[in-house]
Amino acid sequence: MAKAPKTPKYVYLFGNQKAAGDGTMKALLGGKGANLAEMTRIGLPVPPGFTITTEVCTYYYDHKRTYPQALPAQIKAGVTFLEKVLGKKFGDLEKPLLVSVRSGARDSMPGMMDTILNLGLNDQTVEALAKFSKNARFAWDCYRRFVQMYGDVVMGVQKAANEDHEPFEIVIETLKQELFPGQEHVLDTALDVAALKDLVNRFKALIKKRTGKAFPADPWKQLEGATSAVFGSWMNDRAIVYRRKYGIPHEWGTAVTVQAMVYGNTGENSGSGVAFTRDPASGEKVFYGEFLMNAQGEDVVAGIRTPLPVAKLNAVQPKAYADLEKIRALLEKHFKDVQDFEFTIEEGTVFMLQTRNGKRTGLAALRFAVEMEKEKLIDWQTAIKRVPAEQLDQVLAPIFDRKAIKAVTCIAKGLPAGPGAASGKIYLNADRCVEAARKGQRVLLVRLETSPEDLRGMIAAVGILTARGGVSSHAALVARQMGKVCVCGASALLIDYDKCTLTVGDQVFKEGDYLSIDGTAGEVYAGEVKTAASEIIQVLVEKSLKPEESPTYQNFKKLMDWCGQVTRLQVRTNADNPAQTANALAFGATGIGLCRTEHMFFEGNRIDAMREMILAETTADRKKALAKILPYQREDFIGMFKELKGLPATIRFLDPPLHEFLPHEESQQKELAAKLGVSAEKIANRVKELHEFNPMLGFRGCRLGIIYPEISEMQSRAVFEAAAEVQKQGIKVKPEVMIPLVGFKKELDLQVAVVNRVAAEVMKEKKVKLNYLVGTMIEVPRGALTADEIAQTAQFFSFGTNDLTQTALGMSRDDSGSFMTSYQEQEIIKKNVFATIDQDGVGQLIKIAVEKGRRTRPDIKLGICGEHGGDPESVKFCHRVGLNYVSCSPFRVPVARLAAAQAALQDSAKPAAKKPAKKK
Ligand code: PEP
Ligand code: MG
Repeated sequence: MAKAPKTPKYVYLFGNQKAAGDGTMKALLGGKGANLAEMTRIGLPVPPGFTITTEVCTYYYDHKRTYPQALPAQIKAGVTFLEKVLGKKFGDLEKPLLVSVRSGARDSMPGMMDTILNLGLNDQTVEALAKFSKNARFAWDCYRRFVQMYGDVVMGVQKAANEDHEPFEIVIETLKQELFPGQEHVLDTALDVAALKDLVNRFKALIKKRTGKAFPADPWKQLEGATSAVFGSWMNDRAIVYRRKYGIPHEWGTAVTVQAMVYGNTGENSGSGVAFTRDPASGEKVFYGEFLMNAQGEDVVAGIRTPLPVAKLNAVQPKAYADLEKIRALLEKHFKDVQDFEFTIEEGTVFMLQTRNGKRTGLAALRFAVEMEKEKLIDWQTAIKRVPAEQLDQVLAPIFDRKAIKAVTCIAKGLPAGPGAASGKIYLNADRCVEAARKGQRVLLVRLETSPEDLRGMIAAVGILTARGGVSSHAALVARQMGKVCVCGASALLIDYDKCTLTVGDQVFKEGDYLSIDGTAGEVYAGEVKTAASEIIQVLVEKSLKPEESPTYQNFKKLMDWCGQVTRLQVRTNADNPAQTANALAFGATGIGLCRTEHMFFEGNRIDAMREMILAETTADRKKALAKILPYQREDFIGMFKELKGLPATIRFLDPPLHEFLPHEESQQKELAAKLGVSAEKIANRVKELHEFNPMLGFRGCRLGIIYPEISEMQSRAVFEAAAEVQKQGIKVKPEVMIPLVGFKKELDLQVAVVNRVAAEVMKEKKVKLNYLVGTMIEVPRGALTADEIAQTAQFFSFGTNDLTQTALGMSRDDSGSFMTSYQEQEIIKKNVFATIDQDGVGQLIKIAVEKGRRTRPDIKLGICGEHGGDPESVKFCHRVGLNYVSCSPFRVPVARLAAAQAALQDSAKPAAKKPAKKK
């Protein structure tokens, strides 16, 4: 007889210092469930509980929101386990067991999914709890919280679109006004038993009115409803938006953890808090966080009462504080990373409800990594992995200009929740914020406090300002993670949602007015304030700050030095002039990967010469215009070669999509006509003649040089004359001439012949020997597919992934904005394909070209110079497919270097790299 299949394990218990799971099981138990198990195992005070696995979530969505047959019995066994450990009973009329029901995905998604606390209460068990705890106020406080949360999360009693207040909050406010007429900001703790009972009744009536259903009294029904709501919240709008932003796959699902309640709301000996083992905004090694006495966890993060800094707990509850300090040290020692944890103090005893790796700003990530390496908590390779490459941008972000900030007044102070400086027009509602940002405005989202519904507005805003809430409020957490500037809890701000105004003292600000916020100092300024470069930029680029005066710079340098030890992929830069080149080199670029020569003509009078060349009708006229262009090009090349001091420079020959350079407006045409001494009509006619329906696929790239070889001749001459001059000054030069938009080997052959002929001429004329390469961009599918043939001529390939994406996907790089967001929302694509390489499609073309190119020419140099060269995920892809370098804009060089190092470390658990040499 065949053996009956084993029933899968859907529920994992933890409690009494034992746990079925552990910290490595995040995929199955979610981050919260796995870490509760781990904390239980290492002896931390964790209330017992059980976790329902993410597999159940997957099953739930795959089976029309139903559960596996074996689940109810396993949940029942889980509850029995809690009853045994605690000597309480679920639904009991003497010692009722209450539980919390929480979500927990593999990666934490703060505030995005649902939680229910105090589950198990009804009109009878609340009396039992009151009697058993000898604290009726506490019992009724739990009950009103439960009815509110259950009504909101499970039964869907929430604010409608365009309502600014939650319906339950309106009920609370109404009751407070009845009880304390005329008083503002009455605290929940002011409500007595009678008021809380009244509130429970009003809440139930609200639920009945809005849903037509009664609040369920049976604790088992409550547990069923709560579990389904938490699984259901995986697919709520804000969770979907969040996952999209952070690239979390929908398939992962969430786990659900059911845990025995501990109570922070029994009175002034109890409380709840959220803390970080170090400061997640600045990175400083201080115990950071906040707490509220006589409160449950959600009060601390909801931002309704402004909590106290955790250091003040020492004065209120010294024993609990000392215990927390011990826990803080133990957490870092065990998890070897900065932890963000939730605790409850019940009658003086500390309980741990959650721990996870703390979200952090780029600045903090950098400091944590460097200091933890110094403290020997982690090694330097781990330090590299700890700084998310995309976050390094934040360290390079602007701060307020020192002079400009002195000219404005600080109108309010709040908590520094997300560092950096931001100036923008204020909007008091997320939708209006999104709309204004869409129109190109820089906006600040200003709210009393933010809730997860505000997420879209927060994404659109350059900064976030709230009147209430602490450093662990929703606004602060989310802002920090996104790298948004954030000031929260600026209580001097009076926000009127109805009038759309913000009042501070006697100043009234309307939507659309400018405010500026300093998220490092927690300050709010009236008006627009100019921003200045970050300290790293001041040291490296502006040279206005000494390296030794900036600890942030020193941390940055250390990280970059470590990256240098392990990286295989080189990082070059896309630079079109000597200043950009110098910036990129200061950031550690190893050469120029793309100099777009047409960009050298954007400025001043240069564009006139360029337009003259494009508009020329005869070869003679064109040569005349080219003769004007030549000195400009030569001069810039000389400047760049000098900056590079022997590092390679890939110079891409002209690739001007005609529409970008032609004068379209009548006034511009007249102006140009006057300069060229021809009639405006002639110019207008020529512009008409040159009009293209599809300029991106038109007369551009190598097509220009093939039809008019004199253009490539001039460019070759500019490159080699500049190279000869600089080399004569004793400075090495390594020019690499690159032909754009090649799809046929013959196209490249024709252009290479011109380049080589002119190079020979210049070498003869100048009596020098120049070492140079000639290669091509691979940026149309035909080029990639015939890379073996093209490599017979090309000495290098550089993937132009902007055009390669455009042509492989048939999506215009200029016009895709209108549907790209919707494509992401509908998950046709995971990320914007013009920012992050479409690995399955465009990536295949790259792989084919790499393989074919190397087959023909094993030592062919391979790089990428599309915008993707500065995107961490794409950089890692380039490493994996074996490119030699990526090239990106100067300010993205550090990000790319970090991503490249991380890719190298991913290659093998134990990198072959040696420990960095000690500085002498
Ligand atoms: C590209 O197409 O990726 C590229 C680098 O060239 P451009 O952006 O100038 O078309
Ligand atoms: Mg291109």
